[in-house]
Amino acid sequence: MALPAEAGGFVGVADVSPKRPLCFLLLGPPGAGKGTQSAIIARKTGVARISTGEMLRDAIARKTPLGEQAAPLMDHGNLVPDSLLVALIDERVTHPDCTNGLLLDGFPRTVRQAEALDQLVRDRGMELVVMNFDVPREVLLRRLSGRRWCPSCQATYHLESSPSKKEGVCDTCGSALIQRADDRENVVAKRLEAYEAQTIPVIEHYVKRVAVHRVDGYRDVSDVFAEILPFLQGEKAS
Ligand code: ADP
Ligand code: ADP
Ligand code: ZN
Repeated sequence: MALPAEAGGFVGVADVSPKRPLCFLLLGPPGAGKGTQSAIIARKTGVARISTGEMLRDAIARKTPLGEQAAPLMDHGNLVPDSLLVALIDERVTHPDCTNGLLLDGFPRTVRQAEALDQLVRDRGMELVVMNFDVPREVLLRRLSGRRWCPSCQATYHLESSPSKKEGVCDTCGSALIQRADDRENVVAKRLEAYEAQTIPVIEHYVKRVAVHRVDGYRDVSDVFAEILPFLQGEKAS
């Protein structure tokens, strides 16, 4: 994923590494900046980044059975069934890069997924750290309508806040950028509804169990990252 211009200027944080296995969650509505921040965090810390949206889009591109099931649901702004997501995560966490912790972007999105993750966190003795991105709705709409995406390498851009160097062309791999089918206006409305109905209860699930840290996501990419960093280093985790 290409980083917006602001993200290039971080110095002195390349040695960030969580002191114990963290299960670091980025929660927030579509367009809040979870993917952007998770890419930076993974680059700075080396922690295994698990973006379920990216994994599903990859499955669609490879035309796997999971991709065939997920595609029509995603295109209409609906969530993919919990059983498929839990199986996807269960398999992913067996990879060796997950031994030192996980960074989850886009999971869990339902209470059932959160309960499955609670079990995994217990089984692995991980520390759960929950970040909840807060961004005004009108800003989310602007971010999603201007988001552009590379179907070859999944790099993400924004027409205004994070444009590619050459209009319509991926900086990383040179492919033509497109708008994600689910970023069209009518589908976005559906996704925000799904978020409110199915994912807000996930936040409530965590509020009852652990500290949920609010992140003001309506700021520059580098400022948002600076707010998250102490939690990654374990300094603020509670
Ligand atoms: P966003 O950028 O809006 O946060 P994602 O890339 O995370 O979107 O997800 C895109 C789509 O993939 C979702 O609208 C949903 O259909 C599907 N998806 C991703 N993660 C999950 C999940 N944990 N549970 C169910 N569906 C998911
Ligand atoms: P999510 O994964 O939560 O759906 P993304 O990280 O894909 O969100 O961000 C949505 C869009 O907004 C992308 O086009 C991205 O380039 C842009 N964006 C992300 N963070 C910021 C920010 N802090 N300020 C302005 N634009 C941003
Ligand atoms: Zn690309």
